[in-house]
Amino acid sequence: MRDQYGRPLTDLRVSLTDRCNLRCVYCMPEDGIAFRPPADLLQDDEAVLLIELAAELGISKVRLTGGEPTVRAGIVSLVARIARIPGLVDIAMTTNGVLLETLAEPLARAGLTRVNVSLDTLDPEQFRRITRGGHVDRVLAGIARAEAAGLRPIKLNAVVVRGFNEDDVVALAALTLEHPWEVRFIEVMPFGDVADVADAGIVTSEETMARIEAALGPLDPVDLSGTSPARTYRLRGALGDLGFISPVTQPFCASCGRLRLTADGRLRLCLLRDAEVDLLTPLRQGASRDEMKAIFAAAAYRRPFGHALAERLYPKARVMIQIGG
Ligand code: SAM
Ligand code: SF4
Repeated sequence: MRDQYGRPLTDLRVSLTDRCNLRCVYCMPEDGIAFRPPADLLQDDEAVLLIELAAELGISKVRLTGGEPTVRAGIVSLVARIARIPGLVDIAMTTNGVLLETLAEPLARAGLTRVNVSLDTLDPEQFRRITRGGHVDRVLAGIARAEAAGLRPIKLNAVVVRGFNEDDVVALAALTLEHPWEVRFIEVMPFGDVADVADAGIVTSEETMARIEAALGPLDPVDLSGTSPARTYRLRGALGDLGFISPVTQPFCASCGRLRLTADGRLRLCLLRDAEVDLLTPLRQGASRDEMKAIFAAAAYRRPFGHALAERLYPKARVMIQIGG
C-alpha cells in the first residue's frame, strides 16, 4: 500500500482508548476533555478486524497507543488476538509505564514485542508537575519489569518542554551510560486546547543536544539516515543510544509511512492535520471485508504531505490523548 506521493505504508498506530491515568500538560487540558461514550469506540472485534484488513493491505508493524493503552479493559487478551494476525512482524506499545509493573509479563507472553515508555524526567517533583500527579517510581519499576520480561529494545520518550524539564534531559541521557536503552527527546507539538504549552515551551532538538554535550561530552552519530524519525547518537562509552525527534524544526514527512487509527475508529491521515476518514460507521453498517479494505486503502492513498506548523496552522480538532502518539 502506498499513498499518492509513493510513500510505502507499513506502520499502523492504533489508539485503544481515549482515557488515561495521567494528565500530561502538553497532551490534555487541565480541566479534562469530554471522553467519548464507550459504545462510540472500537470494540475488540472491530479493532482486530481493522488491523487484520490493514495487515492484508501490507501493514507489518502495529503500535498500540492511546490515551493510555494499558488502562483498556482486557488489554492482554486483545494483544494476544492481535499477535495472531498473519503478516505482522512487530507489535509494539507506547505507554506511560505506570501499569507495566504488573502488565509487562502478561503482555510479553501475549505476544507484545516491545514497549516505548514515556518518561520526561527522573525528578519525582517535576514528574508530578508534568503529569499532574504521577509517581515516577512506578514508571521506573515498570521499565525494569518490561526489560526483565524481554520487551526489548526498551525505548524511552521524553517530550522536552521549557519551564518543565529542559534541564532534566541530562539525567535522562545519562541513563544510556548504564543501560542499553534508546532515550529519545521529542520536540513538543501544538495541538488544540494545549497548543499554548508548545508555543511557550518548544525546546529545539539542537538546544537539547547542546545541553547534553555540554554536560556529558560529545555525541557520536549512529544513524542520521532519516529512515526513522529519530536521528540517533551515542555518548562515548555508553551502552545505549540517544534519539532526537524534531517534528517542528526538521519535519520527516518524506519518510513517513505511518497511519493512525483513533480509538473512535477514524483513520487519521497525518498526525499534524485534522483530516480523518471514518471507518467505524461503514463497518457497523455492514460493509464487507473487501469494501472496508477499499475504503481503507483509498483513505490511506490521500495522505497529505507536509504540515504547516511554521505557518502556525495547528491541528485543532483533537489533542494528543485523543489521537495517539
Ligand atoms: N499514554 C501513552 C504514553 O504517554 O506513552 C501513549 C499515548 S501518548 C499520547 C503518546 C506519546 O505522545 C507520548 O510519548 C507523549 O509524550 C507524546 N505526546 C503527547 N502530547 C505531545 C505533544 N503535544 N507533543 C509531542 N509529543 C506529545
Ligand atoms: Fe496520558 Fe500519555 Fe497523554 Fe500523558 S502523554 S496524558 S500519559 S496519553
